[in-house]
Amino acid sequence: MSGKTRPEILIVGGGIGGVATALALARRGMRSRVLEKAPEFGEIGYGIQQGPNAYRMLDWLGVMKDLEPQAVFTKNLILIDALTDRELTRISCGDTFRRHFRAPYTVVHRRDLHGALLEACRKREEISLHTSKELTDFDDRAKSVVARFADGSEYEGRALIGADGLRSRVREIVIGDGAPRPAGHVTYRGVVSFDQVKDQSHFDDMVIWIGPNLHFVQYRLRGGTVMNNVATVASRKFERGERESYGGPDELMEVFSRTTPHVQEMLGYVGKDKNWVLHDREPHPGWTRGNVTLLGDAAHPTLQYLAQGACMAIEDAVVISGKLATAGPDGDVHAALLAYENERYLRGARVTVTARIFGAIIHADGGSRDLRNHLMAQRTPETFWEIDWLYRGIEP
Ligand SMILES: Cc1cc2nc3c(=O)[nH]c(=O)nc-3n(C[C@H](O)[C@H](O)[C@H](O)COP(=O)(O)OP(=O)(O)OC[C@H]3O[C@@H](n4cnc5c(N)ncnc54)[C@H](O)[C@@H]3O)c2cc1C
Repeated sequence: MSGKTRPEILIVGGGIGGVATALALARRGMRSRVLEKAPEFGEIGYGIQQGPNAYRMLDWLGVMKDLEPQAVFTKNLILIDALTDRELTRISCGDTFRRHFRAPYTVVHRRDLHGALLEACRKREEISLHTSKELTDFDDRAKSVVARFADGSEYEGRALIGADGLRSRVREIVIGDGAPRPAGHVTYRGVVSFDQVKDQSHFDDMVIWIGPNLHFVQYRLRGGTVMNNVATVASRKFERGERESYGGPDELMEVFSRTTPHVQEMLGYVGKDKNWVLHDREPHPGWTRGNVTLLGDAAHPTLQYLAQGACMAIEDAVVISGKLATAGPDGDVHAALLAYENERYLRGARVTVTARIFGAIIHADGGSRDLRNHLMAQRTPETFWEIDWLYRGIEP
């Protein structure tokens, strides 16, 4: 058995949540072992938005300095009606926003974010990183957890954190609540060189064109050199019960056919050969059993409509490290993990539920759309109350 006697923490999954957790634990003097199923650590090649709540956590983790040259500091979050191309409302992320939330709003390439966290992990002697380690099972003992992997290896730790994503094996063992819930929504993504983008009026803004059963997100990445594009549709086929084959490129084009020529033209920036079928889960407590708990998407997967799934995983990482540090090396690990879950459960639930509601608002049609547009027109760029609870974030 490798790593048998070391009082370390096992982290299953080396996505953003897993590596952020290893770094947060190291920052508080704790050893960990990250066990990732893929043959290499990595992330897909698209963008990610970081609310000010995540920025402050990443700053505490010490990675913002490396990340800042690659990040784009968002000036405004803008909503535009996709049927008219008219702006509905905006949140200014300028000085008032930064003062209020004590951090800026930034967007980064996923590989830059994950890469910065991973590089920081590689520099810490408290962290060991392993690839090609697919967790199959574990034994939760009184004072430790023994995890077993598909290649026959085993590792023992004082605790096991399942940061293994939407289809978490650790969740299956701890809660066993089945597959995640398909939302019936499908996303297409694409990153193109900024030179290729025809309408360059939104340089450093994060813009969402919203319309009936659809939205299109656009923002720049990598110091502004490339444009990230995300098109999402709520599938009619799914609603009709055609669950086998929904959300194909034909449906994407059909749902967007009511939008302005400008919006339809932007569909040229997303790839049609691959899509992401979106899922979340009904919030559910009880992610902690003995010395095992869940983190990030494994614990509280959400639709991306608040752009907060990864931000929540990063917050989780900071909170769990604090609870384990407070317990100390010989403390009650189970109590520390429970305290972590208690602190995170309703915040994660609020993100999941609010993301669904926001999805319904941005996808509205008919009279609901009229009312939405009317209410949005009454906001000012400094109206923050809707997202105050979220962006104010937590303290490390
Ligand atoms: C279209 C889209 C846009 C999004 N935009 C944003 C955004 O702007 N901002 C934001 O904050 N969030 C966003 N999200 C959400 C965000 O991508 C996720 O919430 C986040 O990546 C979750 O990180 P994680 O580490 O919990 O899980 P994952 O990234 O899924 O990582 C899990 C890791 O565990 C590994 N693994 C799985 N099973 C095992 C096993 N049995 N053994 C060992 N390893 C295993 C996997 O290989 C993977 O590396 C978006 C999501 C989507 C779909």
